[in-house]
Amino acid sequence: MATESTLRFGAQTDEMTSLLRIVNMVRTGEAMTRPEIGRVTGLGRGVVTQRVDHAIELGYLEDGEFGPSSGGRAPRTLRFRGERGIIAVCALGALHIHVGIAALDGDILDQTHREWDIARGPAETLDAAMGMIDELLSRGPKAPVWGVAVGIPGPVDFETGRPVAPPIMPGWNGFDLRRRFEQHYEAPVWVDNDVNLLALGERARRRDENPDLIYCKVGSGIGAGLLSHGRIHRGANGAAGDIGHVRVRESDAPCRCGKVGCLEAVAGGWALVRDAEAAIAGGATGSLAQASHDGQGPRPETIARAAENGDALAIGLIQRSARDVGEAIAALVNMFNPGVIVIGGAVAAAGELFLAEVRQRVYELSLPLATRDLSIVQSVDDVREPLRGGADLVREQLFDLTFPRWFAEGRPSIAATHAVAPALSA
Ligand SMILES: [Zn+2]
Repeated sequence: MATESTLRFGAQTDEMTSLLRIVNMVRTGEAMTRPEIGRVTGLGRGVVTQRVDHAIELGYLEDGEFGPSSGGRAPRTLRFRGERGIIAVCALGALHIHVGIAALDGDILDQTHREWDIARGPAETLDAAMGMIDELLSRGPKAPVWGVAVGIPGPVDFETGRPVAPPIMPGWNGFDLRRRFEQHYEAPVWVDNDVNLLALGERARRRDENPDLIYCKVGSGIGAGLLSHGRIHRGANGAAGDIGHVRVRESDAPCRCGKVGCLEAVAGGWALVRDAEAAIAGGATGSLAQASHDGQGPRPETIARAAENGDALAIGLIQRSARDVGEAIAALVNMFNPGVIVIGGAVAAAGELFLAEVRQRVYELSLPLATRDLSIVQSVDDVREPLRGGADLVREQLFDLTFPRWFAEGRPSIAATHAVAPALSA
């Protein structure tokens, strides 16, 4: 991965290119000793020694244990000094804040969450989120923050880090989230849609660098993150994958976005809650209705659970949602040809009941070639994955994309990471 990005800075010296490549090889485990580095890169022994010494001097690598011997003297392994920096991740949901801190190797070191209504607006929400991160930092390892990832449940202009007309986030439109975090942490910040973080988390979990994957979250709202050969496909403005607002046939249900007939308005968690309440008011019976009469109105996760437990009303709602979601995904499958579709979110937590319907619709409506090797699976851990995905987003931005711009400073700076790329290649 490093070679591709460093090559873009072709005018830089070969020396820098090979130095960054070596740091990244050790960082990712591609090569761990000087002889291995020599074999993989084809560089001579003297050059490898020189580059490694330079990387050690800059603080990126250090000598570790002695590796296995292949006859002669055992070579020393090298290790990437991942403890020198911390990655902070803030995953904002419609009704919760989830934050974590990670080491530079992507391991989540600590995390915490709380319930929170994102409609309280950016000032109050970000104060709360940063307070939670600060708490984790104060009890965690003493290292500077090298990068921050922020996920929000709405469309984001990735270049500027600003939300764009997010339907469920009143007061957030155009808010400069990046600057707010940058000022507080004095580190580079990337803001992305929460489903993109989920897709990146899935990539990290699979240890597959290049999947063609769609992560579809069916929670209160509906969205999808697209990985094209391992890279997030954000589209021209960051709106790619926003399938919650594609039009569903024969529906004129009003949507939160102001239009009518959106997928979300018939199949999203909030729509299921609306329909469950209407059915209960109309005399529907069962466990969902009983809970409602006892003062616990339906929520997306309680509908999913009731469906799993055989409640007829809930099963009907979940299956209808899955059919509509399956139809929208089928269109994506024909166009995008993913190898894997991961379905997550509170509604999809109904499990096989939901998944079976989605599969059936997708196979019915997609081209045979597009579904020949397609697998459709349930997400593993919606709660932890955005943290992992956020840490991976920062790692990718730091080490695969912007490394040449800041490596000489020894740690990433806001100015270097967000500088325009051609400044270095000129
Ligand atoms: Zn809509």
